[in-house]
Amino acid sequence: MKITIIGTGYVGLVTGACLAELGNDVFCLDVDQKKIDLLNNGGIPIHEPGLEEVVARNRAAGRIQFSTDVAASVAHGEVQFIAVGTPPDEDGSADLQYVLAAARNIGKHMTGFKVIVDKSTVPVGTGDRVKAALQEELTKRGADAGFSVVSNPEFLKEGAAVEDFMRPDRIVIGHDSTAEGQQAAALMKKLYAPFNRNHERTFWMDVRSAEFTKYAANAMLATRISFMNELANLADRVGVDIEAVRHGIGSDPRIGHSFLYAGAGYGGSCFPKDVQALERTARQYEQDLLILRAVEAVNDKQKLVLGRKVVQRFGADLAGKHFAIWGLAFKPNTDDMREAPARMLVRQLLDAGATVAVYDPVAMAEAQRVLALDLNAEELARVRFAASAMDTLDGAEALVIVTEWKAFRAPDFDKIKASLKQAVIFDGRNLFEPDVMSQAGFEYHGIGRSILT
Ligand code: NAD
Repeated sequence: MKITIIGTGYVGLVTGACLAELGNDVFCLDVDQKKIDLLNNGGIPIHEPGLEEVVARNRAAGRIQFSTDVAASVAHGEVQFIAVGTPPDEDGSADLQYVLAAARNIGKHMTGFKVIVDKSTVPVGTGDRVKAALQEELTKRGADAGFSVVSNPEFLKEGAAVEDFMRPDRIVIGHDSTAEGQQAAALMKKLYAPFNRNHERTFWMDVRSAEFTKYAANAMLATRISFMNELANLADRVGVDIEAVRHGIGSDPRIGHSFLYAGAGYGGSCFPKDVQALERTARQYEQDLLILRAVEAVNDKQKLVLGRKVVQRFGADLAGKHFAIWGLAFKPNTDDMREAPARMLVRQLLDAGATVAVYDPVAMAEAQRVLALDLNAEELARVRFAASAMDTLDGAEALVIVTEWKAFRAPDFDKIKASLKQAVIFDGRNLFEPDVMSQAGFEYHGIGRSILT
């Protein structure tokens, strides 16, 4: 099938590459000329395991092309995926300007029937707005081409995006019941047929329910994280090991083990903005989503927990003190630092007067870019971008771990102890066992692990 993907970011590039891998003829459009040039020169703008190989293979086979040519992109695909960003607006609602611009571009150029698939995460009712924006352009031109707007939210996880796309738990497709809607559904069924070979994974529904499903999923996952973080903070007070509790409750199949990890708070481009956007939608309908308000408030507080633990241990004035930070990306296997808890930690330690040395296995370039935006010149001068994890340690009072990269899970503790000024570890992801750390001679501060002995 001939497919166009509008927006070549995390979701668009992975969607395009994976659909090409299945044999489709894919046209990826972006407004960012630099990104398109990089892709056309064989580069990949994001770190995502396996993606480079899939893109290279399909470029070589002539199944995927990258361009900024809007007219050509509209002419190419019978199915047009919109996968542009939906960042939070000032009031927390999803900013739909990129989605609607993409819709208008299709309306300006289309000649025959098109299926417009909304893959971006968008509030309930956006399908109607996409339809209206596109129709307005058609009317302006006096053109009369048929189209249907479908919702097909994306559930991939950054860091495992290719794997998730290729082996989805479920595919959600919302379409309307008009003749065009049925035609669109038939095309979507054909496109996704390779994923449904072993068993049917597609859930068919109306457009609004599909749009809502994406927010409900992210809100549920964020809720589980904030719930455990809130309990972890209590566990710290009452001498309970939250990790033991996690095992104890996760074994109940009604609860399950996923997303029960206490830590330094959730970040990334999705949970924070999607929780906010759902709350905002509710407010527009005069409903207050009390649980989600609490989820967000708990998370905002949780991002400060590691820094607070450092200040509690070393005092409010950290001038002249140096700290090592491991992990900057908001989670492992990605270089994405959007809303990453590490940014908050760096800010807290610098505000208290400290200097820091930071390291992340893949997010160093992104960290330099992002921290240059977060910090002024004087603050930035107090950040050293280290060449390796071990290179952060010299002269540091303590090591603070923020991201649970595999490479941090079994470090050389003797070397760490020898390099640090004091053998103190703050572990924002509960990578280690408190008793093992204490036997190894470390003062260990996890999240929710201050067991009374
Ligand atoms: P991104 O910022 O990485 O990429 C968006 C791309 O769209 C950018 O390259 C931008 O230049 C391009 N763009 C903007 N306007 C355009 C236009 N009119 N025409 C062509 N290109 C245009 O965003 P992302 O992380 O891929 O997210 C895209 C959407 O998918 C968002 O709604 C997000 O919430 C959702 N989503 C993201 C993830 C994730 O893990 N990142 C997962 C599921 C859903």
